[in-house]
Amino acid sequence: MLRSLLDTLKCSALAALLAGASAQVHADTFAIENVTVLPMTAAASPLKQTTVVVRDGRIAAIGPAKSVTVPAQARRIDGTGKWLMPSLSDMHVHFPNERMLDLVARAMGGNGMPGVTLDTADLSAPYVAMGVLQIVNASAMSEDVGRRREIESGRVLGPHMALAAMVDGAKPIWPPGMTRVAANAADGRQVVRDIKAEGYDLVKVYSKLDFDTFSAIVAEARQQGLKVMGHLPARGEGLTEKLFQPGFDLVAHAEEFGWQSKDMSDADIQRYVTAVKRNGTSLVSTLTTNEIIARQARDPSVLQGRPEYKYVHPALYMFWTHNNRYVTSATPERIARLEAVVDFNRRLIRAFVQAGITVLPGTDTIIPGQVAGVALHEELKALVDAGMSKEQVLVAATRQSAEFLGVLADRGTLEQGKRADLLLLDADPLADIVNTRKIAAVIANGRYLPASELKTMLDQLVQRYSTALPAAKSE
Ligand SMILES: [Zn+2]
Repeated sequence: MLRSLLDTLKCSALAALLAGASAQVHADTFAIENVTVLPMTAAASPLKQTTVVVRDGRIAAIGPAKSVTVPAQARRIDGTGKWLMPSLSDMHVHFPNERMLDLVARAMGGNGMPGVTLDTADLSAPYVAMGVLQIVNASAMSEDVGRRREIESGRVLGPHMALAAMVDGAKPIWPPGMTRVAANAADGRQVVRDIKAEGYDLVKVYSKLDFDTFSAIVAEARQQGLKVMGHLPARGEGLTEKLFQPGFDLVAHAEEFGWQSKDMSDADIQRYVTAVKRNGTSLVSTLTTNEIIARQARDPSVLQGRPEYKYVHPALYMFWTHNNRYVTSATPERIARLEAVVDFNRRLIRAFVQAGITVLPGTDTIIPGQVAGVALHEELKALVDAGMSKEQVLVAATRQSAEFLGVLADRGTLEQGKRADLLLLDADPLADIVNTRKIAAVIANGRYLPASELKTMLDQLVQRYSTALPAAKSE
């Protein structure tokens, strides 16, 4: 039976049909005229009074008005006084699913959350509305392999999702099913081959791996052509420099280095700079992650009242307010350490950037206080406050993130032929980084979504979420 199915799949007519199945869904043709373009290419500076034509999801033409032919059927959008740039990337998020909620709820001693459903379009809406059209899902599960295709095919409006499957040591921090477990080098190599075969993009290494297993995973991933991102295991074992082996591509948090250091000193930071730079490893910042963790440990009321919190599914929000270990475990000593980490992270990022190490923005969204899409804009501001230039931050959130993920040929800069994943802004983000939030329109895979439409999308989301969890109303 299986044999004959495989034979059928080899039939050339079917193969042709399958190849053509990814037809374009958005036939929108439009031109944005007289706009200032921030191409985010290595060489190009801002292009003033430019016309950009979008057709079939791609940038069909870009140039001065007199040199660009706008197709007759194209909608014309006045870009006067506006800025057009590539959409943004969040290089570290967690995109939840029902099974993940059940696993985590049971690990906390509950009975799972059988009544809760999570909708991919709903979870995606805040990312889209904030112009964050590329994310790295740092605890991807098999559900996400299907979701990624729903989004890529255009059936669901959402961000491009790079999938990182998690692997931890024999006593994993997160429940098996959400993470994979590898107790030794042989396990580790097999886990990597499974991750590859099941269709993930990256391997996410986690805190409890022992050094030999970590090393085997990194070596196997390199052989399999999978990138490795993650935590720094073997805390307190004095092995930090040895973790930076060929194939270890991306550290998931600045904070990871803080856990490797006894005193979070500048001297240690210089050692880390040397090891990371030599290995060509990059870093995901997650500055705001530690900032919001420290703030909620000191004062849990920061998790109440912000209008953006309504974009969080009520079942997830309950984890913020009812099962929040940052709050329940807060002691004066812990709060002091959390605040020291915030300071350490800023020093580390400054040193990394000065040394020419690539720092990419990420938020660890799902962490209490981090709202999808919204948190990325806050992270960009935090990076500028930590000492990166506005241009460095914008390049990191666009071109460099796409380059890291191997998708730069498709997106990440604003150039002819690239996918039209764009952000139209009412103010110049190079003048003030908070202007990334002044969104006039998001262009997602060539689909033009003006601010009014994005607002309606979020209003409807808030409405749905307000009735998504009836049992929680008594709260
Ligand atoms: Zn994370």
